[in-house]
Amino acid sequence: MKKFGLLGKNISYSFSPTLHNKIFELYNFEAEYKIYDVEDEGSIEGFLKSMKEDNILGLNITIPYKTTILKFVDELSSEVKDIGAANCIKFSKNKITAYNTDYFGLIKTFEKMGLYLKNKKVIILGSGGAAKACIKALIDLNAIVYTVSRNPEKTKMNLLNCFTISYEELLETSGYLIINATPVGTFPNTEISPVSTDVLQNFDFALDLIYNPKETLFLKFAHSKNKKIENGFCMLVSQGVKSEEIWNDVELNYEKIYDELVDEIYK
Ligand code: NAP
Repeated sequence: MKKFGLLGKNISYSFSPTLHNKIFELYNFEAEYKIYDVEDEGSIEGFLKSMKEDNILGLNITIPYKTTILKFVDELSSEVKDIGAANCIKFSKNKITAYNTDYFGLIKTFEKMGLYLKNKKVIILGSGGAAKACIKALIDLNAIVYTVSRNPEKTKMNLLNCFTISYEELLETSGYLIINATPVGTFPNTEISPVSTDVLQNFDFALDLIYNPKETLFLKFAHSKNKKIENGFCMLVSQGVKSEEIWNDVELNYEKIYDELVDEIYK
């Protein structure tokens, strides 16, 4: 039996076991996916040692350990080097390698939305780990990126084709795609949006990385202005699928897995 899991803190709510168990079922993998709730950073080294002894093959990493985990691995994939955070590690014979499959999940989401991003202006709300994965994916696709922060002076990034602005400056800005990479609007606080309808009307596409609720107020505002919208479910599924591909060295059919899960979660 192959062993996989999720490392994080207070994660009993996670959707990941459902997602990975669906993949095991669809592909007849003899495997298990367990939740590992670890209280503090000080316990991670010992935890990873026990995982190795238990012959675990891979772990997903979530809040609050996506950056901390880098101290305990032997090798960083190229996207992890640029983003500075990992959400997936693979155990091999003599090493642990870190990956950022959120990055691949975002690229899949842009594909699903039918976006052509070269030289297009994209706005990202927020400056956390998810925003950093967005920046890397968008820069790699040759977009021109603006991040919006409540503290633009503090969070400014020194990257080519990536600028930081305030929410006031955003009021005067238009572009191709706007992405909500803040937690604002997540269940149960669904009656708030990081920006108003006036801002959303200046963009062709709106993507919210939140997947619960299915349509956030941010997406409802964009929808009301006839913009094309997408939520974070495609990203969630495809980061999980990419993790399985890395761990098992196989190629999986993302669309098949997405179709199976989307009805189940939003029924
Ligand atoms: P995070 O680090 O907690 O926050 C992201 C950024 O949002 C912060 O750096 C902050 O930027 C801004 N922010 C936080 N609270 C805010 C508020 N009350 N008002 C306005 N801005 C606020 O979160 P994260 O890990 O990057 O995740 C961001 C979102 O993406 C979450 O909703 C998460 O669930 C979602 N996500 C989804 C997937 C998926 O697979 N669909 C994967 C990863 C993350 P400033 O301080 O610069 O304003």
